[in-house]
Amino acid sequence: MASDLQLARLHRDILGCTRCVDAGFLPLAAPVLSGYPDNQIMLIGQAPGAVEADRRLPFQGRSGKVLMQWLARAGFASEMEARRRIYMTSVTKCFPGKGAAGGDRRPSRAEVGLCRPHLDRQLALIKPLLLILVGGLAHERFLPGRPLAELVGRVFDLSGRAVGSRTRTRPLLLPLPHPSGASRWLNDPGNRALLDRALRRLRPMVTALLDQKLVGA
Ligand code: SF4
Repeated sequence: MASDLQLARLHRDILGCTRCVDAGFLPLAAPVLSGYPDNQIMLIGQAPGAVEADRRLPFQGRSGKVLMQWLARAGFASEMEARRRIYMTSVTKCFPGKGAAGGDRRPSRAEVGLCRPHLDRQLALIKPLLLILVGGLAHERFLPGRPLAELVGRVFDLSGRAVGSRTRTRPLLLPLPHPSGASRWLNDPGNRALLDRALRRLRPMVTALLDQKLVGA
């Protein structure tokens, strides 16, 4: 397990990062993340939105409310418990601004590349046993080139192989769609059924980790 000091150093480095400002991609850097050294679950989103950038905390806006409802269905007793037990971060850690269509801009490949060392260091330090991947950029990082319908409802190992619920492989990767209302994917009843399946598969993993049964597995 990471020490408080190690994590504080890492967070100090990330929170002080201005790479995308220096490279001309962002007018302002305001990295967002939260987590504790003993977290065994890491949730990786795409990038913070405007509300998250303002509060400097992950998943605060409408998407955050939907995500917390999903996490409650996956076994977390409260939002407080979810935020205490899940290390929350994203592929890029600063609000990218609005895109041409009015929604949040998808960070460019170059921005993802600039931010990648931060995520690599977070993964190396926290060593999560379960990775919850929320949205396209997180899927692309770990399970590239697959449509959402082939990801949601399945569990994968780090090599990208789909695994059953009895596997002892760690970490496990569980993809979820983005909870943003901008995504129409969940309008399809078949896709909502895939989300239900994903949350049903997530629940026993969460329960086991909250009970500390998987520590050292
Ligand atoms: S998005 Fe990542 S690399 Fe870019 S400024 Fe923010 S923390 Fe740094």
